[in-house]
Amino acid sequence: MTVDNPAAPIFVPSVHTKFFVLFGDPLSFSVSAWMHNHVFRKLGMDCLYSPLEIGEEKLGTAVKTMETWHCAGANVTMPYKAKVVPYLDDLADSARYTGVVNTIVLGEDGRKTGHNTDGEGFVQSLYSPLGLDVPSKEYLILGAGGAASAVACTLASKGVRRILVLSRKSSFHRAEGLKKRMDEHFPGVCTIDEMNEDVLRRAVPAHEVIINATKVGMGTYADETVFDTALLSPCQAVCDVVYNPRETKMILEAKGKGCKALGGLWMLVNQGAEAFRLWTGVEPPVDFMYETACRFLDR
Ligand code: NAD
Repeated sequence: MTVDNPAAPIFVPSVHTKFFVLFGDPLSFSVSAWMHNHVFRKLGMDCLYSPLEIGEEKLGTAVKTMETWHCAGANVTMPYKAKVVPYLDDLADSARYTGVVNTIVLGEDGRKTGHNTDGEGFVQSLYSPLGLDVPSKEYLILGAGGAASAVACTLASKGVRRILVLSRKSSFHRAEGLKKRMDEHFPGVCTIDEMNEDVLRRAVPAHEVIINATKVGMGTYADETVFDTALLSPCQAVCDVVYNPRETKMILEAKGKGCKALGGLWMLVNQGAEAFRLWTGVEPPVDFMYETACRFLDR
């Protein structure tokens, strides 16, 4: 990676520096180190964030020894969001509801608590910039993986009463697992169905808010949408968890139909901001984080 500004003073860690890391594999495309280090420098904090691309066999040791290398907190991404759970001492509600952790907070007593800030990050973006009255809406979530689970649980925790989750037949067991967990904590809120053309034709026009929580729209799926966007009407809101590209084919087409539409970058920024609050107790400059993330993606 090239240095943004070669004339900028370098940050030299001291014996007091607090380290934050991201556990995952692969990590070369991650925005998080870029975003958090810019915030640490802007706020003059003696902290450093580093991506730690490690194999699964090293995950347990890395997590268990965090305090010995001055690591004060961590993010966790694919493929370790569920695999990290056995190495933690406690789970916050956000992680207990979903079974998935994206943030580890190290307490003063050395205990490591797993949190999930993805759902909160997503739901904050529905309030602003999208401007929705979140609890009063009915939601259709496409996909039943970690992101879908985090979004569904957080919506329910905000008072949402009706969520339909659609999942491909090949991985329908994930939808069943999601519903089981939801029913334990938020009985009656979640229903599930198979994601196929017939169901989509009925479900898409019937929901006020539609959320793509699959990988469709990014990478090799960049030219695809999960459903035919001709089914949309302007009174609907359409959101994506995918943030690269910033506006997926689905989001661009939804905007063309006059819908409120939002890509996943605000979710990414808000989940990072929430992790930052949990680690440091400091309120981060969220708009600056968003601008920084945009600069990373536009490079
Ligand atoms: P996951 O593998 O746990 O779940 C993916 C889900 O998508 C599964 O239900 C799978 O069946 C479904 N799916 C995959 N390909 C599909 C296709 N072609 N058609 C229909 N369904 C398909 O992954 P995840 O952790 O839930 O991540 C999903 C997406 O969310 C990824 O693109 C990830 O980058 C994104 N994400 C974004 C943020 C953010 O901050 N914006 C945070 C977390 C995840």
